[in-house]
Amino acid sequence: MKHIDFKPDFYDQFQCVGPQCSDSCCTHWHIFVDQPTYEFMIYKSKLKDQAPQAFVRTPQGSDYAEINLDEQKRCRLLDDEGWCLVHKLDGLEHLSNTCRLFPRKALHRGNSLTEHVLMLSCPEVVRMLIQTPEMMVFDRLDTPEPQAFDATDYHLYRRPHGYRTQLDWMHAVIDSDYSIEEKLYILSDGVTRLNKYVGHPPNFTSHLIAMAQSNYQEQQVESFHQVKVNTNLQGYLYIHFLELLQGESYTSVMEKSPRLQALLDRLVALFKQDERPITKIKKVLEQPPVSYHLYHQSRPWITSNYLLYRMYMDDVPSMTSGQFFYYFLYEFFYISTTLKLIAAEDVLTDEDVIWVIQSFHKSISGRTFVRLLDELDRDYKALTGQALKPLRLLAPCPFQSKSRNKATLCETDEGLKS
Ligand code: SF4
Repeated sequence: MKHIDFKPDFYDQFQCVGPQCSDSCCTHWHIFVDQPTYEFMIYKSKLKDQAPQAFVRTPQGSDYAEINLDEQKRCRLLDDEGWCLVHKLDGLEHLSNTCRLFPRKALHRGNSLTEHVLMLSCPEVVRMLIQTPEMMVFDRLDTPEPQAFDATDYHLYRRPHGYRTQLDWMHAVIDSDYSIEEKLYILSDGVTRLNKYVGHPPNFTSHLIAMAQSNYQEQQVESFHQVKVNTNLQGYLYIHFLELLQGESYTSVMEKSPRLQALLDRLVALFKQDERPITKIKKVLEQPPVSYHLYHQSRPWITSNYLLYRMYMDDVPSMTSGQFFYYFLYEFFYISTTLKLIAAEDVLTDEDVIWVIQSFHKSISGRTFVRLLDELDRDYKALTGQALKPLRLLAPCPFQSKSRNKATLCETDEGLKS
């Protein structure tokens, strides 16, 4: 059996910028340390005198130890310029697994496919992702022997029935001239419909083929524009989401990064100029600022690159794709609304986009995000008696994108079809 490795083209181009980084991964994080690294650092390293202060054992946790950050929440083993002393004095091979690999991560899809990603919590990864449409070209490497991978349940992994056709259909939607909101509506509604037929292959396939016909997409876009957008509801949800981000239940799960806090402060400062924050939010949702429009017009690939990359990271299409779109609609709503608010005051720049996306991914792990959204749903239900439908978060954007974007979704299933 051959093993297939996939990675986005920019994976090999990535280079850490060290002290120039706007939100270093050596700060404000729980950085876990494996046992061999811990023992090397304590007993053999050139830095062994500093090691007892720099590391702390975590006997209750699943990890062996972690980095004991200083009062400024920085790793104690950085030099004055901000470069890693372990790397400099002991060598790359003595970095802990976490430090050596970050922001790289291997996602194993069964025993014969590995998809490699760079984490969006690194600002330089986001910078590369949004640079050009070509960033979403993928490299494929086939090796005759499977890589040793010790996780017994992975051999059960199967791509879902109709994976290839589903992938082509999603690809066609993303590569269309529809606006990002229209694309998301078509995809999430389509995936929800397909979910009903999981376990019934003939129905699944016929439904998927019907959906792939262009008039289905047109009908969907028409129904999207008929949905009555409730910007009051959207404004309430956005404010409540920000409140939850600020709140204690969130901080108890994960330490808030100063970059996210700085973004929240910037938003609060914007709101102060208005009597009611909801008025400002409703205004930008109903009529996105010109600066937001101009930015996207000059870089029409950005939202598609982001959507494609998030789908790649989350193994879409798969059996759980409905869940992906459920959460992604919130993520997109938070990111796009925040950018619209910034664009209402300033000319929107790449740095703003990197800031909003990266701070979200650094501060909010998948598990924390699920918790936040559960809380949001619970509060919404208590207020209205209804469950929240995330499709209602998509406001039809008055600016329709006509620019074709050239982003492509990788093809990962050859030789893996079940
Ligand atoms: S977050 Fe990325 S660029 Fe910044 S220090 Fe870490 S690896 Fe380097």
